[in-house]
Amino acid sequence: MADTVLQLERVCKSYAIGTPAESQVLFDIDLTIQKGEFAALIGPSGSGKSTLLNIIGLLDRPSSGKLFMTGQETSTLDEDNLTRLRGQAIGFVFQSHYLLTAFTATENVMMPMLMQQGRPDKSMRDKARALLDKVNLRQWQDHLVGNMSGGQQQRVAIARALALNAPLILADEPTGNLDTKSTDAIFELMRQVNQEHGTTFLMVTHNMELAKRCDRTIELVDGRIV
Ligand code: ADP
Ligand code: MG
Repeated sequence: MADTVLQLERVCKSYAIGTPAESQVLFDIDLTIQKGEFAALIGPSGSGKSTLLNIIGLLDRPSSGKLFMTGQETSTLDEDNLTRLRGQAIGFVFQSHYLLTAFTATENVMMPMLMQQGRPDKSMRDKARALLDKVNLRQWQDHLVGNMSGGQQQRVAIARALALNAPLILADEPTGNLDTKSTDAIFELMRQVNQEHGTTFLMVTHNMELAKRCDRTIELVDGRIV
């Protein structure tokens, strides 16, 4: 259990419960992810990948079943404790990356640290710059994110996801909007972080070439792991 980052037991998810539109999207998901794994989550459109990632990211709750995040059972946690656990345990890299385009790369990477600590200090800025160095954006650290390319923005998003040293990074089609060359570079970057820091990754992708290069592939079809 000590090396288990994430464990799901018989997790189900239905939307619109109790209405005529009620529909079940996830069925009895059992899943364990160990520290340091780099896993791909694949499956056809509509199979429930984003729903599952949102539940794992503690952004949404299962309708039934249990989810353990870094050993902590989450169903009994209230919103404040869930938010705290999310902040400690999880970094997000989503396709629509929710960067603040009117701020610099450095400011974007500082944002999670700022939200955790309340006020900026030099160590935050230093750490943000070191992370931007790591994702090969040294020359871009003071540029506005809105002026950067898609691939560069995704690098900023990765640096930001690493800002709080979260043990688990969730990525929903992180390369979905990128050309082949940027896709490869972003994937290699995530792999490098995984290998150097032991950060665990769960990445939704439609790209089978990328999925093959992961340690493990988890396939969803019609809301079930196959
Ligand atoms: P994927 O990411 O694999 O394409 P999703 O998890 O986005 O799949 O969606 C799975 C199913 O759940 C789809 O049929 C979708 O229409 C439905 N769904 C997703 N979000 C909601 C929601 N908020 N309310 C109702 N149905 C939803
Ligand atoms: Mg999706």
